[in-house]
Amino acid sequence: MDASVIEKITDAEWEIMRIVWTKRKTTSSEIIDVLDHKTEWKPSTVKTLLARLVEKGLLKTSKEGNKYIYTPLVEENISIKQAAEHLLTKVCNKKTGNLLELIIAERELSFDDIDAIEALLEEKRKTAVESVPCNCVPGQCKCHEK
Ligand SMILES: [Zn+2]
Repeated sequence: MDASVIEKITDAEWEIMRIVWTKRKTTSSEIIDVLDHKTEWKPSTVKTLLARLVEKGLLKTSKEGNKYIYTPLVEENISIKQAAEHLLTKVCNKKTGNLLELIIAERELSFDDIDAIEALLEEKRKTAVESVPCNCVPGQCKCHEK
């Protein structure tokens, strides 16, 4: 799976993918049922989104009896990793730390989450650099200004 496919997935399509990832194998009526608690989407909207996801190669559809079954062609954890990486491409490399701080500051975390993040940071400390190099085109960040 090309990483750019996940970058081009819309928020609406992501809602559908979450359901297919959870159920592994589902039908459009099951998806419509789940989304009924969250969105005002019409069944035709869900069907359009499903068709688009099949076209993009993120879902597979097969016929079982008189029903169409949808299964994911891309793993949830890989997609989340690609979406996170895509977010990081939107800021200067020097701001990666700031962005991670923002995410951590904004969210509620469990003790286990914090233990895992602390252990990861201890590992990262071993290969940390004095200053992260900028990767931007001059004019897209302040790194090049004197
Ligand atoms: Zn920069």
